[in-house]
Amino acid sequence: MAHLRFSALNLVQSRNKMEVEAPSKKISEYFGEMAYTKAQMQATLSPDVFRKVAYAIDNRKKIDIGTADAVASAVKNWALERGVTHYTHWFQPLTGATAEKHDSFFDPDKGIENLKGEALVQQEPDASSFPNGGIRSTFEARGYTAWDPSSPIFIYSKTLCVPTIFVAYTGEALDYKAPLLKALEAVDKAAVKVCKLFDRNVSKVNASLGWEQEYFVVDEALYNARPDLVMSGRTVYGHNSARGQQLDDHYFGAIPTRIYDYMKDFEIEAHKLGIPLMTRHNEVAPGQYEVAPMFGPVNTATDQNQLLKDVMDRVAKVHKLRVLFHEKPFAALNGSGKHNNWSLVTNTGVNLYQPSSSARENLQFLTFFVTTIKAVHKYADMLRASIASAGNDFRLGANEAPPAIISVFIGSTLTKILDKLEKSGDIDIEKGENLYMKLGIDQIPEIILDNTDRNRTSPFAFTGNKFEFRAVGSDANVSDPMMVLNLIVAEQLTDFYNKVSKLINEGEEKRIAIIKVLRQYITESGSIRFEGDGYSEEWVVEAEKRGLSNVKDTPRALDFSVSEEALGLYDKHKVMSKVGAVARHEIKLENYIMKVQIESRLMADLGLNMIIPTAIKYQSKLIENAKGLKDLGIDATEIKTTIEKISTHINNVRRLSYEMIEERKRVNKIEDTREMAIEYCDNVKGKYFDELRYAVDKLEFLVDDEDWPLPKYREMLFIR
Ligand code: ADP
Ligand code: MG
Repeated sequence: MAHLRFSALNLVQSRNKMEVEAPSKKISEYFGEMAYTKAQMQATLSPDVFRKVAYAIDNRKKIDIGTADAVASAVKNWALERGVTHYTHWFQPLTGATAEKHDSFFDPDKGIENLKGEALVQQEPDASSFPNGGIRSTFEARGYTAWDPSSPIFIYSKTLCVPTIFVAYTGEALDYKAPLLKALEAVDKAAVKVCKLFDRNVSKVNASLGWEQEYFVVDEALYNARPDLVMSGRTVYGHNSARGQQLDDHYFGAIPTRIYDYMKDFEIEAHKLGIPLMTRHNEVAPGQYEVAPMFGPVNTATDQNQLLKDVMDRVAKVHKLRVLFHEKPFAALNGSGKHNNWSLVTNTGVNLYQPSSSARENLQFLTFFVTTIKAVHKYADMLRASIASAGNDFRLGANEAPPAIISVFIGSTLTKILDKLEKSGDIDIEKGENLYMKLGIDQIPEIILDNTDRNRTSPFAFTGNKFEFRAVGSDANVSDPMMVLNLIVAEQLTDFYNKVSKLINEGEEKRIAIIKVLRQYITESGSIRFEGDGYSEEWVVEAEKRGLSNVKDTPRALDFSVSEEALGLYDKHKVMSKVGAVARHEIKLENYIMKVQIESRLMADLGLNMIIPTAIKYQSKLIENAKGLKDLGIDATEIKTTIEKISTHINNVRRLSYEMIEERKRVNKIEDTREMAIEYCDNVKGKYFDELRYAVDKLEFLVDDEDWPLPKYREMLFIR
């Protein structure tokens, strides 16, 4: 029987261009037509109800049942007009995917379509089958989903989706979103207090997020012929393609036709849903691309990222493609990340990370800038934990992505300014406004011109008017890194405010008090600032000298998500309880174990019943050939050498596979989840994956191309 690989390759040859039609020429004509946005609310609700809902959204207040009834009725009619028959509470359980359970609007008793406020506000999905890290069994808690009115309701595949948070009756968050919302509230409160030192008019601060989603695309037929891609999202085996990314010709190159059609198609769907996609381009590796929206409130941007991944997945299938969000689908090529561009914006419209031409405003800018650096310095380990996953382990520290060491890049201009501020000695109050000039604060707008010193190797970089958290994995739900970032900045801003207030109470002038605390922060956080090459070996050595953590694997990095420090912060800012945090930790470890276990099984399966039989078949051909040559008296030394090499690799695949299976059996008996995860990391993955892969990839190189069962890198990566 011919291999699936060859029929797949034939299918790829026959793929045609797919014409994609937008609903109309201008995006503005269909943008958001499937989202029940504030504008839609205003158009469909009475002014009184609208005012109440808008107030609740802006101030994170509860919506009373009467208002909820009015919204439910209006949104149901809005949905019915668009051919929708069902609704669902849409939420983000800790599995990483989004979850939904559909209910019909149809009320058989009354014979009409109905949606009550109650059903909009709260529902009880069966929580038992979602991971809850023991919360449920400990407390026998049932869970419920509760409407989050700050994220727009939307229509997706003919279903009305109501964004919700998912909590247990004991109050523990069973999802990603609930703690994020709490952290956003914390940073709002803390930032408003600090803003009031500069401007009394500030009453609200919103955190903004613009993510850049990287992904790979492969043809559906080739994907289906790779059990590893289907089951683990990455290729566990595969020899390098002769041409990889060394020509640097893919990045910002012309987008291949089939991919372009695919992009256009998912962009249309996303735009209808109100996801403001702006940019698309090729990424560094062949087969790799990026999409990014216009930034928006963290909460909505997070939902939109989760939703977009789903849209991209579904639309890819229509195009006979598969989208890969795994952080490292292909060895020896760049992995995929998701840069999180983040800033804080006031209700008066000021981006607090925007340097200004006014010296006075720059003191406010520096306050937020320096406080954020100090927060990252103090809580670097929590940030590291927030991006830990089995997939991201392949990327962090692999000399292509930000390292597992958290550091902050700020560029040369701001470095000079902070140095000056730190070393400026006693401040001369008499000089009034000249103080700013003396401190170099009046010169900050220059950095707007300073686009030259961008540093792609930094995990946390300041890029002009925002920070960019770059170490986030492409497959991650950004809720966790965003929860931690906003939480630690909230904590640091609180600390800043308290220190400044204390100085003022002691009689210090406000300006001077602020500068004093900033100088202290700059000195204390110096070790987190790094402007050099984050991929270099020297940095690893230097970082160690500075006392920065470099935790390369998930099971160990996750310790920081339940450290005393972390638990203290969650509690202080009401983000989650200790029980909730410990449960999450458990879920993440379990998830890690399952991922490594699946890959390990795959490697043994494919190795023993696909790779070895294939290699033996080819080896037998060579043996026949060697015998024939010998009969004719021709020298067969070369062939013998190849046969020996193949034998060695076959033996290694067999030996390593069986050893690994035994090791797994041992590790599976370990009771403690953390310990089991560490063993999976060190003694299953660490001991066997690379060596097994080495043997299999050598065989791929040696064995007759006609016999090889798995689509090769060169076949998967270069879509026309
Ligand atoms: P890059 O050069 O890194 O690709 P872009 O300017 O294209 O940067 O922006 C990347 C992302 O950052 C986009 O989603 C964009 O909307 C977002 N972004 C821009 N300014 C801000 C800001 N002030 N706060 C948060 N995100 C922002
Ligand atoms: Mg970027």
